[in-house]
Amino acid sequence: MSKKEDPKIVLAGAGLAGALLATMLGQKGYRVELYEKRPDPRTGQGGPGRSINLALSTRGLHALERAGIAADILKSAIAMPGRMIHGLDSSLTYQPYSKNPDEYINSVSRAQLNIDLINAAEKQENVTLHFNQRCIDADLDAPAADFVDGDTGETHRVAGDLLIGADGAFSAVRGRMQRTDLFDYRQDYLEHGYKELTIPPSEDGGFRIEKNALHIWPRRSYMMIALPNADGSFTCTLFWPLKGPISFDALKTKEDVTRFFKEHFPDAVPQIPDLEDAYFANPTSSLVTVRCGPWNHGGKTVLVGDSAHAIVPFYGQGINAGFEDCEIFMDCVEESAPDWETVFSTYYRRRKKHTDTLARLAIANFKEMRDHVGSPKFLRKKKRERLLHTWFPKWYVPLYSMVTFSRIPYADAVRRARNQELKVQSAGWAIATLFAVVLTIFVVSMI
Ligand SMILES: Cc1cc2nc3c(=O)[nH]c(=O)nc-3n(C[C@H](O)[C@H](O)[C@H](O)COP(=O)(O)OP(=O)(O)OC[C@H]3O[C@@H](n4cnc5c(N)ncnc54)[C@H](O)[C@@H]3O)c2cc1C
Repeated sequence: MSKKEDPKIVLAGAGLAGALLATMLGQKGYRVELYEKRPDPRTGQGGPGRSINLALSTRGLHALERAGIAADILKSAIAMPGRMIHGLDSSLTYQPYSKNPDEYINSVSRAQLNIDLINAAEKQENVTLHFNQRCIDADLDAPAADFVDGDTGETHRVAGDLLIGADGAFSAVRGRMQRTDLFDYRQDYLEHGYKELTIPPSEDGGFRIEKNALHIWPRRSYMMIALPNADGSFTCTLFWPLKGPISFDALKTKEDVTRFFKEHFPDAVPQIPDLEDAYFANPTSSLVTVRCGPWNHGGKTVLVGDSAHAIVPFYGQGINAGFEDCEIFMDCVEESAPDWETVFSTYYRRRKKHTDTLARLAIANFKEMRDHVGSPKFLRKKKRERLLHTWFPKWYVPLYSMVTFSRIPYADAVRRARNQELKVQSAGWAIATLFAVVLTIFVVSMI
C-alpha cells in the first residue's frame, strides 16, 4: 500500500493527540476518518474533559508549530515563568523556573485547545470528522473499529487500512490489544485523587492572585495548585488522598470543608467564594499511570497519547508527550511509509523507554511539589542549580529545564542530569581535597 494508493486511516479519539495527528496526517495527504465519542465541542456540549486548563511547554509547542498552529494557540495562553509557593502562614515565595526569561510554561484552556485542533483537522480536505461515535471494540488485524452512534444507539463497523487509537487513558482500542498474546499491560492508581475548584476573576475583571505564575500550596502529603485562565479566573486542583481519615472521603459536610480549607489553605479561602458548594458539586477524579507495549499490532493498529502511556499530571508533560508522539510518529511516516509495520514499530521503539521514564518522573515530581518545594533545602538546591546553569550553561542544565524547555528525549535527560550531579560531586571533592592540601602545607610551613 503506498500513499498514492490512498490508505484509509481510521482514528479513534478527537481529543488533543488524536486531532493533532489527524491534522498532521491530513497535511501529508493521508485520508483520515476521525471518530470521537463526545459531541462536537464547538457546539458547546460535551464538557472540558479531564481538566479545565493545562500547561503547555517546549515539546508540545514544537509539535504544534510543525502543524502550523502554535501561534494561534499561544494568543490566549498565559505565561507562567515560575511557581508561587503559598505557605501555611499565607506567606508567598516566588521561584522562577529558569534563569532564562524566555523559558516559561503556558497555561492554556484545554477546551479551546481541543477546538483549535479540531478546526485545524477539519481544514484538511482529506480529514472527515464524526462526533457522538463511541468506539466499543476493534478488529486489530482487519483493521476495523466498532462504534456506537450516540444519536441512534446503533452499532456500526468502520473498516480501514490502518487503525489509530488516540482514545485516551481508558482506550477501547488498547482494550482489544490487552486481549492479544504477548501484550504487556500495567495500570497503577495513585491513592490521591483530584478535584477542581475555581478562583473567579476580581470584581474589576482582573486576577485575584499573581497572574503569571503556577500557584502551589504544598502541604507535605497533599497539595493544591492553581493555573490562570484568560478570563481572569484560576482553576485550582486539590490533590488529596481519596480515602482515609484525612481525605476527600472524610469531608462530609460544608462545615468540614470550611474548617479544612481554613486550616490548610487559609489565604485561598477568601478567593473561592463558592468553596463549599463547588466542593460538593464538582467530581472527585482518580489518577492513573498506564504502561503497556507494544503500542502497535503489526502494521495495522497503533496507539498514541494517553492510550499508550497515561501519566499522573505532576510534571505538566502528559499532552506535551502526546504531541511529541505525533511528531515522532510523523518522522517515522516520512522515513518508512508505506511500510507501515516499520513505521509503527520504529515509532514504538523510539518512544517507549522515554515515556516510561516520564511516568517515573511524574510520580517523583508529585513528592517534590507537595513536600519539598517550600523547604529551605529545596530552595538551596534550586539556587545551586541556577548558579551552575548560569556559570556553565553548556555543561550544566537542570533536569526540570531539560524536561520542560528542551526536546532532549526524557530518558537521555535523566541520564545527563545524573552525570552532571556526579561531576558536581567529584568537583566538590576535588576542591575540598585541594583546600585540605593547601591548608596542610600552610600549617606545616608555619611550624
Ligand atoms: C488534572 C489533570 C491535569 C493535567 N495537566 C496537564 C498539564 O498541565 N500539561 C500536560 O501536558 N498534560 C496535563 N495533563 C495530561 C493531559 O490531560 C493528557 O496527557 C492529555 O489529555 C492526553 O491527550 P489524549 O488526546 O491522548 O487523550 P484525551 O485528552 O483523554 O483524549 C481522548 C479523546 O478520545 C475520546 N474517546 C475516549 N474514549 C473513546 C472511545 N471509546 N471512542 C471514541 N472516542 C473516545 C475522548 O472523548 C477524548 O476526546 C493533565 C491531566 C489531568 C488529569
